[in-house]
Amino acid sequence: MPTRARPIRLPFRAALVAVGLLAPFAGLAAPSAPERPAVERPNSERPSSERSSLDRQASERAADRPAVAIGAETSAVPEGTRLTVVLSRPVEARAFVMERPDRAIVDLPEVNFQLPPEAGRKRDGLVASYRYGLFAPGRSRIVIDLAQAATVARVATTTRPRDGATLLTIDLARSDREAFRRAAQPAAPARAEGPSTRDPVDSRPLVIVDAGHGGIDPGAIAGNGVYEKDIVFGVAQGLVQRLEAGGRIRVQMTRDRDVFVPLAERVRIARDARADLFVSIHADSISAAPQVRGATIYTGSEKATDAESARLADRENKADAAAGADQGDGPGDVATILQELTLRETRGFSARFAQGLLTNLSGVMEMSVKPHREAGFRVLRSPDVPSVLVELGYLSSKRDLDLLLSDEWRAKVTAQMAGAIERFFAGRVPPAGQAMTALNGDGLRMTRAAEHGPAPVSP
Ligand SMILES: [Zn+2]
Repeated sequence: MPTRARPIRLPFRAALVAVGLLAPFAGLAAPSAPERPAVERPNSERPSSERSSLDRQASERAADRPAVAIGAETSAVPEGTRLTVVLSRPVEARAFVMERPDRAIVDLPEVNFQLPPEAGRKRDGLVASYRYGLFAPGRSRIVIDLAQAATVARVATTTRPRDGATLLTIDLARSDREAFRRAAQPAAPARAEGPSTRDPVDSRPLVIVDAGHGGIDPGAIAGNGVYEKDIVFGVAQGLVQRLEAGGRIRVQMTRDRDVFVPLAERVRIARDARADLFVSIHADSISAAPQVRGATIYTGSEKATDAESARLADRENKADAAAGADQGDGPGDVATILQELTLRETRGFSARFAQGLLTNLSGVMEMSVKPHREAGFRVLRSPDVPSVLVELGYLSSKRDLDLLLSDEWRAKVTAQMAGAIERFFAGRVPPAGQAMTALNGDGLRMTRAAEHGPAPVSP
């Protein structure tokens, strides 16, 4: 027995009922749901026709919903450390390691994490900490910060006999730096469990669409009670649909619903995915000046263009604190020389994209007096991903607010944004990230000290 395993205290079914999530669990008992036949099913109480119809309904409901994670714990195993996640049903998982910082990544289909708030914060063996959350639409991820070099020895799912819960175990084995480095090569990523369903290589440029705020962080609030987080999410979704319809760009969102995602996590998502562009969407508000209106495009800089930009960046940067998740600035904000050089080059790309976007947007919307500005937004700090932040307008302006809520206006704006993104990449030959290879290649990968420390993604 693992020595440090803590027992899961709540009975599994009771815990799911407690969080109102029994329906996904019902799939466990359905004939079609589990791949592993270890669940014992009494099949005598009800007539079989009635039972199969009920089971089918339950399993259809379950298939629609993500698996629920209700427990997670680390324990010692002979070769190193095991992370066990308790799930409502089996999922396909793959895990791999990445260097600088050293971490193990577990990719999952969408999982509804209902873990206690302290989960992932305690150091145990090879696990310094871990965090988890929605990584992209339909995809969840657990990121384990490693206390020392380790490789993924095994990923397995088993069924717990007493209640049918699925136990997903990720075994980390101590390794030397050499072995770790070999395992961390991007070309040799995964130990897969189950049939391989990996996408064929997709060389299209990858754009991360970042809808500001979310969950417990509403962002700015309009006089009529409308939240910035909802407005910008609608626009972000519209942009994603446009890009997907165009077929030339791959798209991921940092959040695909009303969920809080810390600022550093948004940056991390873009960097881990090796994105080619990051577009953050926000809306501003100045209640003292309801006549002020128009959109502004920001790129990152330590020195703000003006006091108003600095004030805005400060306020947007407080999103984590507003959600009770402030991580502080962290050691990673002190850039190395290499990082500094990369950042400078990346900011050149950011500025070029901002100019193109400005050209497109000024045809369809009111722009502010100085429509391209710079400020120290935390989400614009990826050293190697060109990044812009668009403030679509002011919730404090009646005219802007009416437009922000208009489907017709949104359609025009997202069409122009998508056009600017496609044009930004159109000149790139060959396509898909080649222009950034010198920055992202293995020889020039950046130190990412800022990524240490727990930063759970609040589901
Ligand atoms: Zn905002």
